[in-house]
Amino acid sequence: MQRTKIVDVINSQPTNEAVTVMGWVKTFRSNRFIAINDGSCMDNLQAVVDFEKWDAVLLKKIAPGAAIAVTGSLAASQGQGQAVELIVDQLEIFGESDPSSYPLQPKKHSLEFLRQIAHLRFRTNTFSAVFRIRHYMAFAIHQFFHERGFYYIHTPVITASDAEGAGEMFQVTTLNLNSIPRTEEGNIDFKKDFFGRAANLTVSGQLEAELAAMAFSQVYTFGPTFRAENSNTPRHLAEFWMIEPEVAFADATDNMNLAESMLKYVIQYVMEHCKSELEFLNQREQDEDKQKPAQERNEMGLLDRLRFVLSNDFERLTYTEAIEILKQSNPNKKGKFQYPIEQWGADLQSEHERYLVEKHFKKPVILSNYPKEIKAFYMRQNDDGKTVAAMDILFPGIGEIVGGSQREERLERLQKRMEELHIPQEEMYWYLDTRRFGACPHAGFGLGFERLILFITGMTNIRDVIPFPRFPGNAEF
Ligand code: ATP
Ligand code: MN
Repeated sequence: MQRTKIVDVINSQPTNEAVTVMGWVKTFRSNRFIAINDGSCMDNLQAVVDFEKWDAVLLKKIAPGAAIAVTGSLAASQGQGQAVELIVDQLEIFGESDPSSYPLQPKKHSLEFLRQIAHLRFRTNTFSAVFRIRHYMAFAIHQFFHERGFYYIHTPVITASDAEGAGEMFQVTTLNLNSIPRTEEGNIDFKKDFFGRAANLTVSGQLEAELAAMAFSQVYTFGPTFRAENSNTPRHLAEFWMIEPEVAFADATDNMNLAESMLKYVIQYVMEHCKSELEFLNQREQDEDKQKPAQERNEMGLLDRLRFVLSNDFERLTYTEAIEILKQSNPNKKGKFQYPIEQWGADLQSEHERYLVEKHFKKPVILSNYPKEIKAFYMRQNDDGKTVAAMDILFPGIGEIVGGSQREERLERLQKRMEELHIPQEEMYWYLDTRRFGACPHAGFGLGFERLILFITGMTNIRDVIPFPRFPGNAEF
């Protein structure tokens, strides 16, 4: 089918040559003006029909949601905000849409409502903007790493190792759940299962990425990740996408530098390539803010927040320094934190992270050198015997967006830590082999893709930045 995309005609010059545009009707006003959108840009194209020339039955079919093709010439537009409009010569209806049952009316719908019709919400301005930005972000991430000589590694979605996610993993099985084979001891006999052993959906591609980094020096993964944690929060999904670079011959500082430049690169890229989407979302947020009490409004608009992050270095400090700040903070002294900070060693909750970022430093923060007790076994042990070379990046409005570390490359230390945490070493022989054959200092991190989308779009619920969210009690569509 020959069609011209709206993005290619919307700012062109008037022409007598016939142009065909295909898309979905947004609105049809006065039996004359059709607003058509084909998803190639935010803008609708205005098509003008002369209702006297057309059959009334046909005109009735031009209803919101209908898929149509219009052919005609481009004339200078009388209306505002567009250079041209299409004067319709030919009109074809591909698929009608019954206005009495089409759920998307030309009015504002709540995000909660739109989540229930996620199969149609792509057609709204908001989700059209969000998901185009999501695409550009994914593209920017690949470009960022490619430009720097990283290789994209596909790590497995199904994994038999549960070293990281004990208790938080989704099991994968083909066993008949109505008659589960048992061993003589009465345990489930996973030898009879598809893989001959218990298997799960991955919680991270890191361990496998480390193996590849020991050959390619610089690799990254970008794939779906699954957590069966029962977190009904606006920042957690059961299925989300994670970007995990892993770099050989790199230490904790290199790791922070890489993460900071990647985040800035993606933000910059979106600001350059998604101007109208960002302007739309910026305006949307402003309108929403007007409905809210003053203290709940954003101090800075979306575009200003993005510019601000680009033009400032992230604040870098240690966990120990952060604990001191939190201990002395007003909300802590006044008992405003749900989890008061009493002593060194406390795990930081999102309320603490957000205090540091939003109230204290008022910019993104990189926290490093956490107590080893609250971090994973593979993080490199610092000389103080208490902390590991971990780093988390905290963003305003979100909290943790990146979690990473320099990895423990010293075999004995790694084994000792695994022993302490009762992580079976025989099963993980392949991971330990990288420490036996050519171990080197290396580091990496995981960026939650949807958390970064939240920041860049200004959306506030993670369920609104992934097309089909999975969360407890919901796997619709
Ligand atoms: P949190 O403490 O926020 O639950 P985490 O420490 O469990 O996160 P990591 O295991 O460090 O998360 O995962 C790396 C990154 O993946 C996080 O920094 C975050 O951006 C993202 N992430 C983690 N869990 C989720 C989730 N359930 N939904 C969406 N993104 C997530
Ligand atoms: Mn983390």
